[in-house]
Amino acid sequence: MKIAILSRNKNIYSTKRLKEAGENLGHEVDVIDTLHCYMDISSNRPTVRFKGEALPHYDAVIPRIGASVTFYGTAVVRQFEMMGTFSINESVAISRSRDKLRSMQLLSRKGIGMPRTGFAHHPDRIDDLIKNVGGAPVVIKLLEGTQGIGVVLADTQKAAESIIEAFMGLNANILVQEYIKEAGGADIRCLVVGGKVVAAMKRQAAAGEFRSNLHRGGSASLVRLSPQERKTAIDAAKTMGLNMCGVDILRSNNGPVVMEVNSSPGLEGIESATGKDIAGMIIDFIAKNAKPNNTKTRGKG
Ligand code: ADP
Repeated sequence: MKIAILSRNKNIYSTKRLKEAGENLGHEVDVIDTLHCYMDISSNRPTVRFKGEALPHYDAVIPRIGASVTFYGTAVVRQFEMMGTFSINESVAISRSRDKLRSMQLLSRKGIGMPRTGFAHHPDRIDDLIKNVGGAPVVIKLLEGTQGIGVVLADTQKAAESIIEAFMGLNANILVQEYIKEAGGADIRCLVVGGKVVAAMKRQAAAGEFRSNLHRGGSASLVRLSPQERKTAIDAAKTMGLNMCGVDILRSNNGPVVMEVNSSPGLEGIESATGKDIAGMIIDFIAKNAKPNNTKTRGKG
């Protein structure tokens, strides 16, 4: 098969591993810089152009679209879908999962566990917003943040009010969430491929920190999932319509709660924590599913 990895950087771990795994399994794999692709969208024969030439036909694409390039990146994926190329994650599913509010509304509609969460832009009654998720301590998140930046723990009602006011002053969309104290600064990253959890790791925050992001000094270890945790991760991936994703779960007193679903999960942390060849599993899934026009929406969504 001919596979394209859409990635801004061919030297990062996940991209390198996917290319290597694809080639080891006998496929031809190109890495294409998403932002350097351009397209004639008015033509009746959709193509993607790159460095002065139309790209050849690919059987499948693996989008590795960073949060900052979602808008353009999903348009490129959509163009490939219109050409009948199979995308491991569809453009509509990527867009859906990138919108945190939409994601949480969809997960909640399906009855998937999540922390009590409120969102707001300019509430007149900040006290009520806080009260509604159970009162302080609460976690306040800037919607645009990644890697734990813009995620703040407010211990008291007063602190929560002033942080929310400060974010409001910046005209930001915010999310106010019940603090899952019993998670003890740990979360669980489940990697879902083709409706199965293929690997899971526990990330533990550094001492004195509640955010477990590896970028913030968190450490990863192996974890055994309960059947309920496994089901929660699978249901979350299915709700978002993602064939491959990372589902972040907190262990709460009320069972597993989903914090986030990531459509371009990094492979380095989870491959080294579990010793599994996840890149190989992703390529296997593609080999089994990349029939022409097998992307459900074919760019229509
Ligand atoms: P980002 O997407 O920027 O990584 P997250 O929402 O995943 O932000 O939050 C970063 C980290 O903070 C999580 O991995 C988790 O360890 C911790 N955290 C986030 N929300 C909560 C919460 N409601 N209760 C307890 N810990 C949380």
